[in-house]
Amino acid sequence: MTHTDDMQTEDGAPQERRLISRRGFLKAAGAVSLGVAVGGLSGYGLSGCGPKESSPGQTVSPTLPGPMVTGTVPGNDLPLGAEPAAYQAPSPTLLPSPEEAPVEITTDICVVGGGAAGMAAATVAAEMGARVVLVEEAFILGGNVTRGLVSLDRVGWGGGLMVEGWYTKLIRGLSDQGDAVFPGEQTGLTTPCDPDALRRRALALARKAGVDVRLGARAIWVEVAASGTAPSSSAATGSSPGPPGGTTIKSVLVREQTTLAKITASAFIDCTGDGNLGYLAGCTYWLGDRDTGFIQGQTLIFFAAPVNVDQLWSYARAEGSQVEEYRIVGLRHLMSELQGTGAVEGPAQGGILIDRNMWPNTVSISASETYGNHLEPGGLAQILATLETQNKQIHQALRSRVPGFESSRIVRLAERPYLREGRRLAGYYQLTAVDIQKALKPDDSIARGYYPVDLHRSVGAGIVQSVYLSIGDWYGIPYRCIVARDLDNLLMAGRCISVTHEALGSTRISPVSIALGQAAGVAATLSVRKSVRPADLPAADVRTELHKQGALT
Ligand SMILES: Cc1cc2nc3c(=O)[nH]c(=O)nc-3n(C[C@H](O)[C@H](O)[C@H](O)COP(=O)(O)OP(=O)(O)OC[C@H]3O[C@@H](n4cnc5c(N)ncnc54)[C@H](O)[C@@H]3O)c2cc1C
Repeated sequence: MTHTDDMQTEDGAPQERRLISRRGFLKAAGAVSLGVAVGGLSGYGLSGCGPKESSPGQTVSPTLPGPMVTGTVPGNDLPLGAEPAAYQAPSPTLLPSPEEAPVEITTDICVVGGGAAGMAAATVAAEMGARVVLVEEAFILGGNVTRGLVSLDRVGWGGGLMVEGWYTKLIRGLSDQGDAVFPGEQTGLTTPCDPDALRRRALALARKAGVDVRLGARAIWVEVAASGTAPSSSAATGSSPGPPGGTTIKSVLVREQTTLAKITASAFIDCTGDGNLGYLAGCTYWLGDRDTGFIQGQTLIFFAAPVNVDQLWSYARAEGSQVEEYRIVGLRHLMSELQGTGAVEGPAQGGILIDRNMWPNTVSISASETYGNHLEPGGLAQILATLETQNKQIHQALRSRVPGFESSRIVRLAERPYLREGRRLAGYYQLTAVDIQKALKPDDSIARGYYPVDLHRSVGAGIVQSVYLSIGDWYGIPYRCIVARDLDNLLMAGRCISVTHEALGSTRISPVSIALGQAAGVAATLSVRKSVRPADLPAADVRTELHKQGALT
């Protein structure tokens, strides 16, 4: 996307007069916008966030971008350490028509993106008494979980639940009504749930809490300004610890149907999955594999019905798939045959994941996979076209080859593909595969991760899973990973937090996204209440409130 620097504000004044772009501000402050060395955090309120001894001889430094550490994670084919290179989004210069006067809205917190993370962030913040506006471009809440028709992952690998708090509230309510099965022994790898019921409950909980929910509303432009808390000169040159600071998001312009709204807030939370808000605001970010730029594969789920699940489950058991009460993972022979004979277009996955969730004769199928960049113009349509073709081919093969599918049709196609990986915004720390492997539990942990590093790559069978934690173990996701480094009042939650390409393969799953949303909602509310930057908020305060709300950190 190209951006011009000479665009004008609503009153026609050149951009420069009204807005201080982040890049311009940093230049004025003597900093280099890309690759500013950010040292430790002492003096910036992220208490308990200094370098940590994770194990004898191993220091985890919050410095970011980190130095390139060479080698791989022992026992795994994953690069070590943080990523050295990051992109710099262009200055926020995308202005709507200068003639169109926006409706002015002022609030405490503006959450952009109402997916797994955003619905939790907004609702929790409102439950704590903050005034919250939630901006979601789709017509429903839930993001991948509802529009993507994904089955919620299990919330633990044995040894009890790893995610509680708002997640439990959401699922408990659904299971009480027969719309989900509360996770336990029998639910195995998944949390059976009806996505339409989840969507209803998410909206009901948000509105009950008093969230001003804006659906069909897309954040299209961001106004940034100097925050008044200018960084010290030493921080600005990168010679001493401390974040660059000094820039805030003042307002976000939102296109809601035909109305243009300008939402001014004290704090913003980017829950767009792709880091769209941070991008519009000029944040530093990462995208794809550090060496190749490769972005994890995309998948489109479909529902097939009517399916005789008894016949299907018996067949899968007999042919050697991994079979649980609600899920089948396998049918690898079928996929490899389709791939070998060219009966499926493009790579697709090496096996098929089948969930029956809450339905007696309907199953969801996740087997398609392609590799592209959905953030490039035209990229999404290309991805979708391939995945839709693959799904038709895979369903035809199931109908003709697998007992139970004979009279089924594709009765529902996910509205959007699963975009596993988008922009990852730079925070005060970048979580790595090594942190996950060591199951580090930092003092400022605000959510637990437990899922293996699951990279959907174009090599091998499509899915490369590694870095399994031992049963019941987990790693902590630091508060530093959800506080934006470049903007003083921006937090992020869900897929766009500050992690490496590999670490995202683990943190991206829905229950963890929900837990991160809850943490961001809590942090934003406390920072507004105390009139401090999220970076100046002691992580211990966030943790204490999360524990009060039943969350696990
Ligand atoms: C095929 C598939 C397989 C998956 N496998 C699993 C699995 O096995 N287990 C598991 O737990 N999870 C799985 N997931 C992953 C999980 O659902 C997501 O990673 C998780 O939902 C990420 O949450 P998020 O809130 O960051 O992003 P999303 O859920 O993508 O939500 C982001 C939201 O932001 C909105 N948005 C973006 N830009 C703007 C803007 N400018 N203005 C307004 N709104 C905007 C989008 O419309 C969207 O609703 C899968 C998902 C799919 C679809």
